[in-house]
Amino acid sequence: LLILVTRPVIGVTDGRTDVVDPDSEGRTSAGFHFADASAPQLSVLDLGVSRGDGVFDSLMVAEGRIPALETHLARFATSARLLDLPEPDRAVWRAAVAAAVATHPPVPVLAVKLVLTRGVEGSGVPTAWVLAQPARDFTEVRREGVKVVTLDRGYRHDVAATSPWLLQGAKSLSYAVNAAAIREAQRRGADDVIFISSDGFVLEAPTASVLLREGNRFSTPSAELGILAGTTQGRAFEFLRTYGYETDAVRLRASELRRADAIWLVSSIRQAVAVTELDGQPVGVDERLTEQLNTHLAHAAD
Ligand code: PLP
Repeated sequence: LLILVTRPVIGVTDGRTDVVDPDSEGRTSAGFHFADASAPQLSVLDLGVSRGDGVFDSLMVAEGRIPALETHLARFATSARLLDLPEPDRAVWRAAVAAAVATHPPVPVLAVKLVLTRGVEGSGVPTAWVLAQPARDFTEVRREGVKVVTLDRGYRHDVAATSPWLLQGAKSLSYAVNAAAIREAQRRGADDVIFISSDGFVLEAPTASVLLREGNRFSTPSAELGILAGTTQGRAFEFLRTYGYETDAVRLRASELRRADAIWLVSSIRQAVAVTELDGQPVGVDERLTEQLNTHLAHAAD
């Protein structure tokens, strides 16, 4: 395994005591080695680059804490399974994430990316790395919210069951479609997208899960609809239940979006952002709850 960090390792402190001491070439006995993120590390023959054939996961680290690390590792393993990639050794990835976090110079929020590709064409050996970088500051976006348009994803709600080779629900490296959808939203004067299935069910955003509030009840599209199982959505629902809200993962018709009291897009690094406009129509915004939710997402340890 390859780990990319910005400085040589000095040790690992993730709340446990494992310390990884690299040799003079950055190699460790923990199944990974350290490398310089500013130097070239990937082959142009890597199928992750030339075909987007691989998987990734992104997690947020605030003040040294890694919320939902085990949930991210479990999802990473599910994505790998869906692409018939070897199962990631969780102990190695856990140690590599901890090392990346421990050796990064202190910043308010780190974005840590785990990547596993099919490797150099013909080699049969996957390429893998962990990269920790300062996260973009989303404070303003969280305060302002986002304008969203609904776009047809072109797949039915049962695509994961009928056509698993389309990899819906895997966090694959092929995010060109997701990026294209966001550009389409921008062309339409919006910031983000909520995908709708070809048969009219609410799915997810290109990089976030969708939450809806109707009165005391929160709902999110069920992960069976060929969407990513959102770790932030899971953490948000746990928090909302402690506030007495009901929570449910369901099938939602696109028309139900229009009836919602409030809508949020939630994801690990941007956290919870309120949808202020849906297809040009204003949507109710609960600023207080958005703030409470974000405070919880940023600070609560699991
Ligand atoms: N759905 C998609 C397509 C995503 O890319 C993401 C995150 O990047 C999410 C949902 C939200 O997942 P999480 O809350 O685990 O970051």
